[in-house]
Amino acid sequence: MTNLHPKFIAECPTIKLSRATFCRMRPIHILTTSFISRSTCLCTKHQNMALLLKALRKQDLEVPANPETFAKEGIAEEMLQNKLPDHVVFSQWKKIQIIEKEKKKFVTRIIESEKEKEEFIEYFMNQAEEFRGHVERVRKQYEEIKKLKENLPPNHLLVQMDFAENYSCKSVEEIQSAYWNQTGVTLHPAVAYFKDDKGDTQHKSFVVVSDEMSHSSSTVHAILEKLIPEMKTLISSIEFIRYWTD
Ligand SMILES: [Zn+2]
Repeated sequence: MTNLHPKFIAECPTIKLSRATFCRMRPIHILTTSFISRSTCLCTKHQNMALLLKALRKQDLEVPANPETFAKEGIAEEMLQNKLPDHVVFSQWKKIQIIEKEKKKFVTRIIESEKEKEEFIEYFMNQAEEFRGHVERVRKQYEEIKKLKENLPPNHLLVQMDFAENYSCKSVEEIQSAYWNQTGVTLHPAVAYFKDDKGDTQHKSFVVVSDEMSHSSSTVHAILEKLIPEMKTLISSIEFIRYWTD
């Protein structure tokens, strides 16, 4: 909720809403995470940092469970040297290759590993440093997007894009042969922000359905290209498009 609130304020700059009210208005079917940490942007970097902190806490090291709090406070390498045992067991989200139906594919799973103390400390300190960079980039990005949105010049578009899951299609009337014809599709939502004639910020959502399954940057460009004719109906002329994806 701590992360979602600034994100919501950045996306809806015209709405004034305190964090307390934002939390109170959370729909009941949206559950807060009790797993690993309370506040996280749910990306692999945040989750992996939370998992590392969990491993430290198991060894009675006094570190916060929340990776963002840890990013602010940090830890002295000396503490790790003094308190960690010779071998440290920890879990991390990792992309691994599996073979399913004779096809190779990549999946992301939690993998438990063990490292020698020195090796673990080096790994941890590097991860912590990288994580601080990540947190700072996320914070700065929201801040800049909020500024952009508030000061969007006329005929400029600000587009936020992100990949949703891949879905597999089924025919409405499922006959046996159709079953073997299932094709996967990518759903790609995008939100375009622009100023109306009165200078108020407006937005419109789009979703692109494609059979292109690779989530690459060239796919993002192709999708944006496809959306431009639709976006042209929003404002009289498009002078500039800024887009970003998480
Ligand atoms: Zn993150």
